[in-house]
Amino acid sequence: MATIEHVRIHPLNHGLTQLLVEIIDSDGVSGIGECWWGIPNAEVPGRGANPIAATVESVITPRIQGHDAHDVQRLWYEVMDFGQRYGDQGIFTMALAGVDLALWDLLGKRHDCPVVSLLGGAVHQRVPAYASLPPLRDPDVLAAECRRAVREGFAGIKLHEHEEDLVHLSREAAGPDVEIMVDVNGWFRPEQTRAFDDALVAARVLWFEEPISPMRDIDAIAAVSQTLETPLAGGENEYSLRDFERLLSARALTWVQPEITKIGGLTPALRISALTELYNTALAPHNFRLGPSLLASIHWGFASPQTTWFEVPFVPETMHVPSGLQRPTLIDGCITVPEEPGFGAFLPPSGD
Ligand SMILES: [Mg+2]
Repeated sequence: MATIEHVRIHPLNHGLTQLLVEIIDSDGVSGIGECWWGIPNAEVPGRGANPIAATVESVITPRIQGHDAHDVQRLWYEVMDFGQRYGDQGIFTMALAGVDLALWDLLGKRHDCPVVSLLGGAVHQRVPAYASLPPLRDPDVLAAECRRAVREGFAGIKLHEHEEDLVHLSREAAGPDVEIMVDVNGWFRPEQTRAFDDALVAARVLWFEEPISPMRDIDAIAAVSQTLETPLAGGENEYSLRDFERLLSARALTWVQPEITKIGGLTPALRISALTELYNTALAPHNFRLGPSLLASIHWGFASPQTTWFEVPFVPETMHVPSGLQRPTLIDGCITVPEEPGFGAFLPPSGD
């Protein structure tokens, strides 16, 4: 038996804050996971990760230290069982995700086997990937980034823009052969979505993501979905299995996008992807960080028949990305089945 000896937090502040978790067992084998990166704090970049790091250190670590590192699912249920009275949504599951993912990575490394193989193997040979652009707002920058994403071989490009002109411009810049998705992060009131949908239809946009505010008003999203031509995507701000049951049973979404670092890691992700089979809804794991959380989403996605797209963050080249957080290789716009032990993640060299 190898027991959990150390749980270490590695905060990264390279323009995009990240919170990696390293778990080292009694044989010295380590696994790398990732928490949700924090509640944005515009004044002090990186500080928004503090409550999540503190939850890992002060609440979760004492409950898992000394336990068998192989008992990944048992530990998840024990920590959740304790934590539910303090919140099964938000900071608690954002923190638990880092620990759960580190334990899955460790399990794979101990067996010298990719996590997707531990899950029974991949059900796809390849899955298309889209470049997920941050909100850019500037037409010239947006056009240049769309052209760069096409050059780098992505099968799709997702914008975070809510202006019709920018939607048209992105189609012009990207050309006819890639898919375009548009995510407005709940920008519109329901009655404003029809006009915007006309622009999406004209630009042949594949999906319209989180169209309205409040983003979790499922009844309103279902009503809006009846009035729009463009199919809807969403779900990155849902947490529990019950949340996803409510969302999927409303039949409003064509793609559901759970975020592995918000829901609490791979252990709950497997239950949620099974639910997407029941509701025959396509799965497109949400992700906006390179490194452990993206790699974990890929292993998870390859194990579900519902997976149709992977989201890959695509930030301007001027933004420093540490080595060790590189993008997966694309072949014909697709990601192929991962072969490295665990999730294949490693810590960026310190000082990078
Ligand atoms: Mg989104």
